[in-house]
Amino acid sequence: MTPDKSLSAVPYYYSSLACGLTPYVPGEQPKDRKFIKLNTNENPYPPSPAVIEAIRNAANENLRLYPDPSCSVLREAAAARWGIKAEQVFGGNGSDEILAFAFAAFFNSAYSERPGQQAVSARSVEPILFPNISYSFYPVYAALWNIPFKTPELDREFNINPQDYKQNCGGVILANPNAPTGKALGIKALKEIAEAQLRNKKVFIVDEAYIEFADSADSGSMIPFINEYPNMLIIHTLSKDASLAGMRAAYAVGSEELIGGLCRIRDSFNSYTMDRLAQAASAAAITDTAYYSEVNAKVCRTRERTSAALADLGFKVIPSQANFIFASPPSDAIKFFAALREKGFLVRHFNRPLTKDWLRISMGTDAEMDALVQACRQIISENNRK
Ligand SMILES: *Cc1c(COP(=O)(O)O)cnc(C)c1O
Repeated sequence: MTPDKSLSAVPYYYSSLACGLTPYVPGEQPKDRKFIKLNTNENPYPPSPAVIEAIRNAANENLRLYPDPSCSVLREAAAARWGIKAEQVFGGNGSDEILAFAFAAFFNSAYSERPGQQAVSARSVEPILFPNISYSFYPVYAALWNIPFKTPELDREFNINPQDYKQNCGGVILANPNAPTGKALGIKALKEIAEAQLRNKKVFIVDEAYIEFADSADSGSMIPFINEYPNMLIIHTLSKDASLAGMRAAYAVGSEELIGGLCRIRDSFNSYTMDRLAQAASAAAITDTAYYSEVNAKVCRTRERTSAALADLGFKVIPSQANFIFASPPSDAIKFFAALREKGFLVRHFNRPLTKDWLRISMGTDAEMDALVQACRQIISENNRK
């Protein structure tokens, strides 16, 4: 990497690792002013009452004790929900943390040599693959661990071409549904990628942050197929579909070998990533499928009516399988973003060449989305008067 001018602003006592990083920039969490917050894909509805109850019950004198490092209650809840073994589940402090562990556990760094293992250090390190438009934390983790990567391009409709991910490489990670586009690949295509990478002896990570909002006939979680693909790791955050972004809780599912790899990294970093409250909350959330399927079906209905309303106003709207909409306003997106902010609505704009004309709008309640559509209508008519 060529040093850029920002490096000169870094204090001299930062490590070369710290100097070289380009950290992820999270969506704004405003403190100064009341916004309708549609910028970080949080769930507009509260967590299940069973979750609040579980947190209350865990808030007791046992907090003086370290939590269970293996997150048993979460693992058992996930095992029961998905009909798998508890040993095939890993609990983590948000899926960002699990992703960081997974990159370290399964993807090779360009500069690492394993002591005493000539074969690995002699092999040139193959780049991992993820789409050029996807969750913007992936390149950040790759840079953190010095993992080379390539980013196959989406097509003009933001579709992933599954063929791109069947080639020899260092491993594959896909968000499915993808962010920020909201487009999902079907189960058949994902199985083909898993199969190709199994033959290639590489790990395929599927980040299912939004899978509970995917309701097309051919899409769904890959968790039922983990026994067919011992190289496939599924990551499932509870931030979005379980309304627990504030709790920091997620789990990963895969073969016992993959889970063992994650444990190796975790236990070289921090053995107690999930606190007692987060473990109790997660187990309750994973168990209360009745509550969440109702809540998330409501979010999907809101997505459909909001998509239709924005299209009526002249937005280009990508059909979404997630709890957000990727839409291009009928006039300059940066100005539109600013105008919405002025009117009290926070959405997300990714100022990069391929996404600069688009806004990612998280789904709020129906009332919030009606207000957003109204604000968009006003902005468009104000623009027309200019
Ligand atoms: C939100 C999001 C995450 C992060 O989830 P946390 O569990 O809150 O860390 C991971 N991947 C994708 C694709 C996301 O959109």
